[in-house]
Amino acid sequence: MSFTAEQTITGNVHSIESFGSVDGPGVRFIVFMQGCRMRCEFCHNPDTWKIKDPKARQRTAEDVLNEALHYKSYWGKKGGITVSGGEPLLQIDFLIDLFKKAKEQGIHTTLDTCGQPFTRKEPFFSKFNELMEYTDLVLFDIKQIDDQKHKELTKHGNSNILEMANYLSEINKPVWIRHVLVPYRSDYDEFLIRLDTFIKSLKNVDKVEVLPYHVMGKYKWEKLGLDYPLEGINPPTDDRVENAKKLLHIEDYKGYLSR
Ligand code: SF4
Repeated sequence: MSFTAEQTITGNVHSIESFGSVDGPGVRFIVFMQGCRMRCEFCHNPDTWKIKDPKARQRTAEDVLNEALHYKSYWGKKGGITVSGGEPLLQIDFLIDLFKKAKEQGIHTTLDTCGQPFTRKEPFFSKFNELMEYTDLVLFDIKQIDDQKHKELTKHGNSNILEMANYLSEINKPVWIRHVLVPYRSDYDEFLIRLDTFIKSLKNVDKVEVLPYHVMGKYKWEKLGLDYPLEGINPPTDDRVENAKKLLHIEDYKGYLSR
C-alpha cells in the first residue's frame, strides 16, 4: 500500500481470481494481496511473500472494484469480494478503501487473513475497527494452537493471532475458522483437542473448516530457489482428515452464511 502525491490509496495486488468458490460464501471475486511476514512451511503461495515485488500491480480500490463488478451477475445472493493474500492486513488502508466502496454498492465483503499483523496498538487498532465496519465475514486461519509449534511452523508465535480471534468474538464479527492439517506439524490429537477448546470459547464462529495440506504449491518454492521444508511429507490420509473434523466438531457449526 502506498499514497501518491494526491494521497490516492493504492494496494499492491499480486493477482486476481475472477471465479473463486472456496474462499467465502458463493461465487467470489478474489483479490490476492502481495506481501506476508509469516513463513508457513506449507505455504502454497510463497510468490506472495515479498512485500515489494515488481511483478505485483499498484491498484486503486476503484480500479479493483470496477473489475470485480464485471462479475457481479454471477455472485447471486451469497457471493461477493474476498481479499486474500499474502496477508491482506498488511495493506489495511487499501482494504478499508476497497471494502467501504464495496459496501456502498451492497457487495458482500470477506477478509481472508492469518491475523499476523493484529495488534491493539495504534494506529493499527483504530484502522482495524474501521475495516470491521465494512467487513461481513472473516476467514480466519489458525495454523497451530500451540505457540511454540506455531513458531516452528510459521516463524511467528500465535499470541496476537489468538488475541485477534478473541477480539472478533468480542465484537461478534462472523468468522470461519480454517485449519490446515499437516502431518507431523499440526495433525496431533492433543493439538486438535486444544484447538477445539479454544474455538468453543468463541461466540462468533459460523463454520470450521479442515483444509488438508497439499503439495500443489511446491513447484513455486522450487521456482523461487527455496528449499521445500515439508519434503517427503505426504498429505494427510482421509482417516486423519475425518479424525480432525470429529475432534474439531465441525458439525456443530452450521455455516449459515454459506446457505
Ligand atoms: S500466512 Fe498464508 S501467505 Fe503467509 S506464509 Fe502462511 S500460508 Fe503463506
